[in-house]
Amino acid sequence: MPHRIWRLQLTCPQPSCTGSMVKAGLYRTIRRVLDIDGWYLMATEYLECLRCKKKVGGWSQGIIRQLAPTYSRQFPAVLTYKLSCDHRVVTQLKSRTLGNSATQLCNTLREQHLDARMRRAIQYLGVCEQFLALCSVRGQFPPPPTMPTLPSPIWLLTVYGYDIMTRLDEYKARITSTFGSILKMDSTKKVTKKLSRAFHKEGQELTLGTTIVPSILSVSLIISELN
Ligand SMILES: [Zn+2]
Repeated sequence: MPHRIWRLQLTCPQPSCTGSMVKAGLYRTIRRVLDIDGWYLMATEYLECLRCKKKVGGWSQGIIRQLAPTYSRQFPAVLTYKLSCDHRVVTQLKSRTLGNSATQLCNTLREQHLDARMRRAIQYLGVCEQFLALCSVRGQFPPPPTMPTLPSPIWLLTVYGYDIMTRLDEYKARITSTFGSILKMDSTKKVTKKLSRAFHKEGQELTLGTTIVPSILSVSLIISELN
């Protein structure tokens, strides 16, 4: 709830409008979010443009894009049309290798969901038993709710696609720049000498080319490296 809780000033996400957004009640739909070992529910607020009267939910991309990283990084999930997926699950998809597929992740999630549900069911039945032992009236408690069906591996891959779409600007920036951190493995002088040789070689390769290759090489040295 960026406006209601954080009091942030937001503008209308419509391309041709610059109106201010004000709060307009709570969003009527609650999203169910897939987590590592269960599900949780997520709610948001409605925001309305003062100029064009357009209403959007607080979790729409047009609103989240306006937030500073301090706030936008707190948004926990990737939203799709029906279900939503927590970033902790999406992170598992990033490290996919041979034998570590979306199907494998689905199986792992099923195991973790079953384990967590079992623990909660035991806790629930234990509390029911204690309650029945304390009161004189004999009765029966309803059984614990069944476990919701987990989404398919294809859905997980769809979510991963949505997540990539939100980081598209970052990927575009990486096309024209090479950015990386340098771990100190040698003395500062040796590291600097190695880097200068690498730059010299890179420069030669570029000058030998028949066409002009736009290349931006940015190197970030940790401050402690230079000291
Ligand atoms: Zn507007």
